[in-house]
Amino acid sequence: MEHRREFLKKSLWSALALWAVPGSMLLGASDTHVVGRGDTLSVIAEKYGTSVRALKSVNSLKSDTIRIGQKLTVSGSAATAVHIVTRGESLSTIARQYGTSVRSIRDANSLKSDLIRIGQKLNIPSGSVPSSKGPIIHVVRRGENLSLIAQIYGSRVSTIKKTNLLRSDRITVGQKLTIPVSQPPSVVAGSSLLTPVIAATNRLRVDSSRWRYVVCHHSAIEAGNAEVYGRAHLRRGMENGLAYHFVIGNGRDSGDGEIEIGPRWRKQLRGGHVRSTKVNDSGIGICIVGNLMNHRPTTKQRQAMNELIGFLKDGYTRSNVDVTVHKRVDKNHTVCPGTYFPYSDLDRFA
Ligand SMILES: [Zn+2]
Repeated sequence: MEHRREFLKKSLWSALALWAVPGSMLLGASDTHVVGRGDTLSVIAEKYGTSVRALKSVNSLKSDTIRIGQKLTVSGSAATAVHIVTRGESLSTIARQYGTSVRSIRDANSLKSDLIRIGQKLNIPSGSVPSSKGPIIHVVRRGENLSLIAQIYGSRVSTIKKTNLLRSDRITVGQKLTIPVSQPPSVVAGSSLLTPVIAATNRLRVDSSRWRYVVCHHSAIEAGNAEVYGRAHLRRGMENGLAYHFVIGNGRDSGDGEIEIGPRWRKQLRGGHVRSTKVNDSGIGICIVGNLMNHRPTTKQRQAMNELIGFLKDGYTRSNVDVTVHKRVDKNHTVCPGTYFPYSDLDRFA
Protein backbone atom coordinates (compact mmCIF):
# COMPACT_ATOMS: atom_id res chain seq x y z
CA MET A 1 0.00 0.00 0.00
CA GLU A 2 2.70 2.37 1.02
CA HIS A 3 4.51 1.77 -2.20
CA ARG A 4 1.40 2.34 -4.20
CA ARG A 5 0.51 5.60 -2.55
CA GLU A 6 4.01 6.85 -3.12
CA PHE A 7 3.82 5.78 -6.72
CA LEU A 8 0.54 7.57 -7.23
CA LYS A 9 1.74 10.73 -5.60
CA LYS A 10 4.89 10.76 -7.69
CA SER A 11 2.99 10.00 -10.85
CA LEU A 12 0.56 12.77 -10.32
CA TRP A 13 3.28 15.16 -9.44
CA SER A 14 5.32 14.66 -12.57
CA ALA A 15 2.37 14.09 -14.81
CA LEU A 16 0.55 17.17 -13.73
CA ALA A 17 3.67 19.22 -13.55
CA LEU A 18 4.66 18.75 -17.10
CA TRP A 19 1.47 18.50 -18.90
CA ALA A 20 1.38 19.62 -22.50
CA VAL A 21 -0.24 18.61 -25.72
CA PRO A 22 1.92 19.48 -28.68
CA GLY A 23 -0.36 19.91 -31.65
CA SER A 24 2.02 18.26 -34.02
CA MET A 25 1.53 15.00 -32.20
CA LEU A 26 -2.22 14.98 -32.58
CA LEU A 27 -3.91 13.27 -35.42
CA GLY A 28 -5.72 15.32 -38.03
CA ALA A 29 -9.39 15.94 -37.56
CA SER A 30 -10.57 13.92 -40.52
CA ASP A 31 -8.82 10.59 -40.04
CA THR A 32 -11.01 7.66 -40.81
CA HIS A 33 -10.02 4.04 -40.70
CA VAL A 34 -11.87 1.50 -42.81
CA VAL A 35 -11.92 -1.83 -41.03
CA GLY A 36 -10.07 -4.50 -42.98
CA ARG A 37 -9.74 -8.25 -42.61
CA GLY A 38 -7.98 -9.18 -39.38
CA ASP A 39 -8.56 -5.79 -37.79
CA THR A 40 -9.64 -5.75 -34.19
CA LEU A 41 -10.15 -2.68 -32.09
CA SER A 42 -6.88 -3.31 -30.34
CA VAL A 43 -4.99 -3.66 -33.62
CA ILE A 44 -6.47 -0.37 -34.83
CA ALA A 45 -5.84 1.33 -31.51
CA GLU A 46 -2.22 0.27 -31.66
CA LYS A 47 -1.85 1.49 -35.23
CA TYR A 48 -3.10 4.97 -34.40
CA GLY A 49 -1.53 5.22 -30.99
CA THR A 50 -4.85 5.28 -29.17
CA SER A 51 -6.83 2.84 -27.03
CA VAL A 52 -9.71 0.47 -27.51
CA ARG A 53 -11.68 2.46 -24.97
CA ALA A 54 -11.07 5.72 -26.81
CA LEU A 55 -12.05 4.21 -30.15
CA LYS A 56 -15.22 2.83 -28.66
CA SER A 57 -16.16 6.11 -27.11
CA VAL A 58 -15.36 8.23 -30.18
CA ASN A 59 -17.36 5.87 -32.38
CA SER A 60 -20.10 5.18 -29.85
CA LEU A 61 -19.49 1.45 -30.01
CA LYS A 62 -21.25 -0.63 -27.39
CA SER A 63 -19.12 -3.72 -27.86
CA ASP A 64 -15.73 -4.66 -29.30
CA THR A 65 -17.34 -6.11 -32.39
CA ILE A 66 -16.50 -4.39 -35.67
CA ARG A 67 -17.13 -5.51 -39.22
CA ILE A 68 -15.08 -5.34 -42.38
CA GLY A 69 -15.76 -2.13 -44.28
CA GLN A 70 -16.95 -0.26 -41.20
CA LYS A 71 -15.60 3.28 -40.96
CA LEU A 72 -14.11 4.34 -37.66
CA THR A 73 -13.08 7.80 -36.62
CA VAL A 74 -9.57 7.59 -35.29
CA SER A 75 -8.91 11.26 -34.63
CA GLY A 76 -9.39 13.18 -31.49
CA SER A 77 -8.60 10.13 -29.47
CA ALA A 78 -4.90 10.42 -28.98
CA ALA A 79 -2.98 12.96 -27.00
CA THR A 80 0.65 13.24 -26.09
CA ALA A 81 2.23 14.46 -22.92
CA VAL A 82 5.66 15.93 -22.43
CA HIS A 83 7.58 14.71 -19.44
CA ILE A 84 10.66 16.40 -18.03
CA VAL A 85 13.03 13.92 -16.45
CA THR A 86 13.68 14.41 -12.74
CA ARG A 87 16.22 12.84 -10.41
CA GLY A 88 15.92 9.11 -9.91
CA GLU A 89 13.80 8.45 -12.93
CA SER A 90 14.47 5.88 -15.59
CA LEU A 91 12.67 5.12 -18.83
CA SER A 92 10.96 2.22 -17.16
CA THR A 93 9.65 4.22 -14.21
CA ILE A 94 8.40 6.87 -16.63
CA ALA A 95 6.80 4.27 -18.89
CA ARG A 96 5.08 2.71 -15.90
CA GLN A 97 3.86 6.06 -14.75
CA TYR A 98 2.14 6.85 -18.03
CA GLY A 99 0.95 3.35 -18.73
CA THR A 100 3.13 3.00 -21.76
CA SER A 101 6.27 1.06 -22.62
CA VAL A 102 9.97 1.88 -22.66
CA ARG A 103 10.04 1.04 -26.33
CA SER A 104 7.18 3.44 -27.16
CA ILE A 105 8.96 6.27 -25.38
CA ARG A 106 12.22 5.44 -27.09
CA ASP A 107 10.49 5.39 -30.46
CA ALA A 108 8.62 8.61 -29.81
CA ASN A 109 11.88 10.36 -28.95
CA SER A 110 14.21 8.52 -31.33
CA LEU A 111 16.38 7.45 -28.41
CA LYS A 112 19.21 5.07 -29.27
CA SER A 113 19.62 3.83 -25.71
CA ASP A 114 17.82 3.83 -22.38
CA LEU A 115 20.02 6.63 -21.10
CA ILE A 116 18.20 9.81 -20.14
CA ARG A 117 19.34 12.86 -18.22
CA ILE A 118 17.73 15.12 -15.67
CA GLY A 119 15.88 17.96 -17.36
CA GLN A 120 15.49 16.12 -20.65
CA LYS A 121 12.08 16.53 -22.29
CA LEU A 122 10.40 13.37 -23.46
CA ASN A 123 7.33 13.03 -25.61
CA ILE A 124 5.07 10.47 -24.02
CA PRO A 125 2.98 8.70 -26.63
CA SER A 126 -0.68 8.68 -25.69
CA GLY A 127 -0.18 7.36 -22.22
CA SER A 128 -2.56 7.31 -19.38
CA VAL A 129 -2.22 9.06 -16.10
CA PRO A 130 -3.30 7.15 -13.05
CA SER A 131 -6.27 9.01 -11.75
CA SER A 132 -6.88 9.96 -8.19
CA LYS A 133 -9.74 11.39 -6.28
CA GLY A 134 -9.36 14.11 -3.71
CA PRO A 135 -6.64 16.64 -3.09
CA ILE A 136 -2.98 16.28 -3.89
CA ILE A 137 -0.25 17.12 -1.42
CA HIS A 138 2.49 19.15 -3.01
CA VAL A 139 5.81 19.51 -1.25
CA VAL A 140 7.37 22.83 -2.16
CA ARG A 141 10.69 22.58 -3.96
CA ARG A 142 13.47 25.08 -4.32
CA GLY A 143 12.61 27.83 -6.80
CA GLU A 144 8.88 27.35 -6.64
CA ASN A 145 6.37 30.05 -5.86
CA LEU A 146 2.61 29.94 -5.56
CA SER A 147 1.90 31.02 -9.08
CA LEU A 148 4.16 28.34 -10.51
CA ILE A 149 2.48 25.70 -8.36
CA ALA A 150 -0.95 26.96 -9.34
CA GLN A 151 0.08 26.71 -12.96
CA ILE A 152 1.38 23.19 -12.50
CA TYR A 153 -1.92 21.94 -11.18
CA GLY A 154 -4.19 24.12 -13.25
CA SER A 155 -5.32 25.82 -10.06
CA ARG A 156 -5.27 29.42 -8.83
CA VAL A 157 -3.04 31.16 -6.32
CA SER A 158 -6.11 32.37 -4.44
CA THR A 159 -7.55 28.85 -4.26
CA ILE A 160 -4.32 27.38 -2.94
CA LYS A 161 -4.00 30.18 -0.39
CA LYS A 162 -7.53 29.70 0.80
CA THR A 163 -7.22 25.92 1.03
CA ASN A 164 -4.00 26.19 3.03
CA LEU A 165 -5.05 29.20 5.10
CA LEU A 166 -2.06 31.21 3.86
CA ARG A 167 -2.09 34.92 4.67
CA SER A 168 0.68 35.84 2.25
CA ASP A 169 2.29 34.47 -0.87
CA ARG A 170 5.30 33.30 1.04
CA ILE A 171 6.04 29.59 1.04
CA THR A 172 9.11 27.67 2.15
CA VAL A 173 10.98 24.73 0.71
CA GLY A 174 9.59 21.48 2.16
CA GLN A 175 6.24 23.04 3.05
CA LYS A 176 3.31 20.79 2.31
CA LEU A 177 0.44 22.33 0.39
CA THR A 178 -2.93 20.80 -0.21
CA ILE A 179 -3.91 21.29 -3.81
CA PRO A 180 -7.60 20.88 -4.50
CA VAL A 181 -7.86 19.09 -7.80
CA SER A 182 -11.31 18.54 -9.11
CA GLN A 183 -10.20 16.70 -12.17
CA PRO A 184 -6.77 15.32 -12.82
CA PRO A 185 -5.89 15.46 -16.50
CA SER A 186 -7.37 12.38 -18.05
CA VAL A 187 -5.67 11.17 -21.11
CA VAL A 188 -6.60 8.39 -23.33
CA ALA A 189 -4.84 5.13 -22.72
CA GLY A 190 -1.93 4.26 -24.94
CA SER A 191 -0.88 1.14 -26.68
CA SER A 192 0.50 -0.43 -23.54
CA LEU A 193 -1.00 -3.77 -22.80
CA LEU A 194 -0.82 -2.95 -19.11
CA THR A 195 -2.79 0.28 -19.23
CA PRO A 196 -6.18 -1.19 -18.28
CA VAL A 197 -4.59 -3.16 -15.45
CA ILE A 198 -2.86 -0.08 -14.05
CA ALA A 199 -6.06 1.94 -14.30
CA ALA A 200 -8.20 -0.74 -12.65
CA THR A 201 -5.66 -1.58 -9.97
CA ASN A 202 -5.12 2.04 -8.99
CA ARG A 203 -8.74 2.11 -7.90
CA LEU A 204 -8.38 -0.95 -5.68
CA ARG A 205 -7.17 -1.56 -2.20
CA VAL A 206 -4.73 -4.39 -2.59
CA ASP A 207 -3.32 -6.11 0.47
CA SER A 208 0.01 -7.10 -1.04
CA SER A 209 0.86 -9.42 1.87
CA ARG A 210 -2.03 -11.61 0.85
CA TRP A 211 -0.72 -12.67 -2.57
CA ARG A 212 2.02 -15.31 -2.23
CA TYR A 213 1.74 -16.95 -5.63
CA VAL A 214 1.24 -15.98 -9.24
CA VAL A 215 0.15 -19.05 -11.20
CA CYS A 216 0.19 -19.16 -15.00
CA HIS A 217 -2.24 -21.26 -17.00
CA HIS A 218 -3.25 -21.83 -20.59
CA SER A 219 -6.88 -22.21 -21.58
CA ALA A 220 -6.14 -25.35 -23.69
CA ILE A 221 -8.53 -24.11 -26.38
CA GLU A 222 -8.11 -21.45 -29.02
CA ALA A 223 -11.49 -19.79 -28.56
CA GLY A 224 -12.78 -17.77 -25.66
CA ASN A 225 -12.14 -14.77 -23.48
CA ALA A 226 -12.75 -13.75 -19.90
CA GLU A 227 -16.50 -13.59 -20.37
CA VAL A 228 -16.79 -16.96 -22.12
CA TYR A 229 -14.61 -18.73 -19.55
CA GLY A 230 -16.43 -16.95 -16.76
CA ARG A 231 -19.75 -18.34 -17.94
CA ALA A 232 -18.25 -21.82 -18.20
CA HIS A 233 -16.87 -21.61 -14.68
CA LEU A 234 -20.23 -20.43 -13.36
CA ARG A 235 -21.87 -23.42 -15.00
CA ARG A 236 -19.28 -25.62 -13.31
CA GLY A 237 -20.50 -24.27 -10.01
CA MET A 238 -17.87 -21.67 -9.19
CA GLU A 239 -19.92 -19.01 -7.46
CA ASN A 240 -17.50 -16.23 -8.30
CA GLY A 241 -17.34 -17.18 -11.97
CA LEU A 242 -14.08 -16.82 -13.85
CA ALA A 243 -11.54 -18.79 -11.84
CA TYR A 244 -8.57 -16.71 -12.99
CA HIS A 245 -7.83 -13.12 -12.10
CA PHE A 246 -6.56 -12.20 -15.55
CA VAL A 247 -7.01 -13.58 -19.06
CA ILE A 248 -4.58 -12.72 -21.87
CA GLY A 249 -6.18 -12.80 -25.30
CA ASN A 250 -4.86 -14.32 -28.52
CA GLY A 251 -6.61 -11.97 -30.97
CA ARG A 252 -9.56 -14.24 -31.57
CA ASP A 253 -12.26 -13.42 -29.02
CA SER A 254 -10.30 -10.63 -27.36
CA GLY A 255 -7.33 -8.58 -28.50
CA ASP A 256 -3.95 -10.15 -29.13
CA GLY A 257 -2.14 -9.61 -25.86
CA GLU A 258 -5.13 -7.83 -24.37
CA ILE A 259 -5.22 -8.34 -20.61
CA GLU A 260 -8.76 -8.82 -19.41
CA ILE A 261 -9.30 -8.20 -15.73
CA GLY A 262 -11.61 -10.67 -14.05
CA PRO A 263 -14.04 -9.92 -11.23
CA ARG A 264 -11.81 -11.78 -8.80
CA TRP A 265 -9.10 -9.17 -9.25
CA ARG A 266 -11.52 -6.25 -9.19
CA LYS A 267 -13.04 -7.57 -5.96
CA GLN A 268 -9.77 -8.99 -4.61
CA LEU A 269 -11.24 -12.46 -4.24
CA ARG A 270 -9.39 -15.76 -3.95
CA GLY A 271 -8.80 -17.70 -7.14
CA GLY A 272 -10.30 -21.01 -8.18
CA HIS A 273 -7.69 -22.03 -10.67
CA VAL A 274 -5.82 -24.85 -8.92
CA ARG A 275 -6.66 -27.81 -6.65
CA SER A 276 -4.69 -26.60 -3.68
CA THR A 277 -6.82 -24.52 -1.34
CA LYS A 278 -3.80 -22.72 0.00
CA VAL A 279 -2.66 -21.63 -3.44
CA ASN A 280 -6.18 -20.61 -4.46
CA ASP A 281 -6.47 -18.51 -1.33
CA SER A 282 -3.24 -16.69 -1.93
CA GLY A 283 -2.54 -17.09 -5.64
CA ILE A 284 -3.23 -14.77 -8.54
CA GLY A 285 -4.28 -16.77 -11.61
CA ILE A 286 -3.27 -15.66 -15.10
CA CYS A 287 -4.66 -17.54 -18.08
CA ILE A 288 -3.19 -17.35 -21.57
CA VAL A 289 -5.82 -18.07 -24.20
CA GLY A 290 -4.77 -20.91 -26.53
CA ASN A 291 -3.62 -24.50 -26.42
CA LEU A 292 0.05 -24.22 -25.58
CA MET A 293 0.44 -27.97 -26.00
CA ASN A 294 0.37 -27.24 -29.72
CA HIS A 295 1.99 -23.86 -30.19
CA ARG A 296 3.71 -20.97 -28.49
CA PRO A 297 1.78 -17.99 -27.16
CA THR A 298 1.81 -14.96 -29.46
CA THR A 299 4.57 -12.40 -29.00
CA LYS A 300 2.05 -9.98 -27.54
CA GLN A 301 0.63 -12.54 -25.15
CA ARG A 302 4.11 -13.25 -23.88
CA GLN A 303 4.87 -9.55 -23.56
CA ALA A 304 1.56 -8.97 -21.76
CA MET A 305 2.23 -11.84 -19.37
CA ASN A 306 5.68 -10.56 -18.48
CA GLU A 307 4.53 -6.98 -18.06
CA LEU A 308 1.60 -8.11 -15.95
CA ILE A 309 3.71 -10.27 -13.64
CA GLY A 310 6.28 -7.49 -13.33
CA PHE A 311 3.56 -5.02 -12.45
CA LEU A 312 1.95 -7.31 -9.87
CA LYS A 313 5.26 -8.21 -8.29
CA ASP A 314 6.23 -4.58 -8.00
CA GLY A 315 3.96 -3.62 -5.13
CA TYR A 316 0.89 -5.82 -5.22
CA THR A 317 2.23 -9.15 -3.99
CA ARG A 318 4.63 -10.29 -1.28
CA SER A 319 8.15 -9.44 -2.31
CA ASN A 320 9.08 -13.14 -2.19
CA VAL A 321 6.08 -14.14 -4.31
CA ASP A 322 6.39 -17.51 -6.04
CA VAL A 323 5.77 -16.97 -9.75
CA THR A 324 4.91 -20.42 -11.02
CA VAL A 325 2.75 -22.51 -13.35
CA HIS A 326 -0.25 -24.72 -12.78
CA LYS A 327 1.50 -28.06 -13.22
CA ARG A 328 4.09 -27.20 -10.59
CA VAL A 329 1.30 -26.53 -8.11
CA ASP A 330 -0.92 -29.50 -8.97
CA LYS A 331 1.75 -32.10 -9.63
CA ASN A 332 0.83 -35.15 -11.75
CA HIS A 333 -2.57 -33.71 -12.36
CA THR A 334 -2.26 -31.37 -15.33
CA VAL A 335 0.01 -30.43 -18.23
CA CYS A 336 -1.14 -26.80 -17.93
CA PRO A 337 0.23 -24.40 -19.24
CA GLY A 338 1.52 -26.76 -21.93
CA THR A 339 4.78 -27.67 -23.64
CA TYR A 340 5.18 -24.37 -25.45
CA PHE A 341 4.69 -22.07 -22.49
CA PRO A 342 7.84 -19.87 -22.17
CA TYR A 343 8.92 -21.31 -18.82
CA SER A 344 12.27 -19.55 -18.82
CA ASP A 345 10.49 -16.17 -18.83
CA LEU A 346 9.54 -16.82 -15.23
CA ASP A 347 13.16 -17.09 -14.10
CA ARG A 348 13.48 -13.32 -13.99
CA PHE A 349 10.79 -13.18 -11.32
CA ALA A 350 12.52 -15.73 -9.07
ZN1 LIG B 1 -4.26 -24.47 -15.41
